Amino acid sequence: MKYPRLLVNKEALEHNAKVIVKMCHDMAIELTAVVKVTCGEPRIAKMYLDLGVDMIGDSRIENIIKMRHANLKGPFVLLRIPMISEIPDVVENVDVVLVSELHTVSALGKEALKHGKTQKILYMIDVGDLREGVWYENAVDEIVKASKIGGVDLYGIGTNLGCYGGVIPSEENMNLLVNIANAIKERGVSFKVVSGGNTAALYLIEKGTLPKGINGYRLGESMILGTDVTNNRTFPFLRQDTFTLQAEIIELKTKPSVPRGKIGRDAMGRIPVFEDLGERLKAIIAIGEQDVPSDGLKPIDKGVTVLHASSDHTVLDVTDLKSSLKVGDILKFRLTYNALLRAMTSPYVDKGWSDIS
Ligand SMILES: *Cc1c(COP(=O)(O)O)cnc(C)c1O
Repeated sequence: MKYPRLLVNKEALEHNAKVIVKMCHDMAIELTAVVKVTCGEPRIAKMYLDLGVDMIGDSRIENIIKMRHANLKGPFVLLRIPMISEIPDVVENVDVVLVSELHTVSALGKEALKHGKTQKILYMIDVGDLREGVWYENAVDEIVKASKIGGVDLYGIGTNLGCYGGVIPSEENMNLLVNIANAIKERGVSFKVVSGGNTAALYLIEKGTLPKGINGYRLGESMILGTDVTNNRTFPFLRQDTFTLQAEIIELKTKPSVPRGKIGRDAMGRIPVFEDLGERLKAIIAIGEQDVPSDGLKPIDKGVTVLHASSDHTVLDVTDLKSSLKVGDILKFRLTYNALLRAMTSPYVDKGWSDIS
């Protein structure tokens, strides 16, 4: 076995997908399952499609192309507004693309017409989080203009919250989106979907306070990890044991808890802080900041504390662990969204995809 290794729990992922599909479909909400944190893993996307999600979303065109090459038929949504330089790939491979620039929409339309196609677009509106989208006060005019551009079909409008500014989706900002949708429709422009949110907006469905008129959700973190980082919570009806990271101990020694010598900066340019707890049993595991941020590692065993890491070494305090350890033993961790993203992206972390196929 090769380490570090990321194990996948198919049953837990299936549970989350089934619960979310039902939750959305009971409310007549179209569900885009977002697989970007898995780098567009075709086995996950296939499982989602088999369980009834409506579309697969990813932020990278490379991942969508990978899923197409794996013979998945989608439909696929490109979540990151496209670069002009990737438009030929978008028109060839993407069913619905998120947009926020008229210039890009024109370029998409031109490319689509060249191939006798129509490109479906979902126009993003910024209702306050300050990431992508036309500022809400200017949205109606800009989107009506976009809908008149040749070669494109306005599939829907949407917003994204809780990602850049950390703004929490609310009845107010969702109503703002619904009002914009109505104003566009009053100008004689029709479209299918008002795409309200990501994981941070799920609680509006749970509480039953989602404004009428929102009929699309794009969900990643909740389905993959059962967590909601924006609202700092876990979903009691979803499972969090979907992924496990395993790492191997390469050194196990008793050492002081405070370094000897004058302290400058660590390998990452940070100033480390140490609490003097006397002599402690420390384990070094063979994984580092290049693979996973150490503050995103959550030890499964009680009595293990993650102390700090440099690029290739992560140091743990294992003094309070009840069972005895030896060099070569494997320790297990759950991961935050950020840590999972990095681990998936690291070529040094072995992925347990065979566990689900
Ligand atoms: C990543 C992303 C999502 C999914 O967000 P989660 O918080 O993982 O549910 C939805 N929409 C867009 C535009 C995204 O980039």
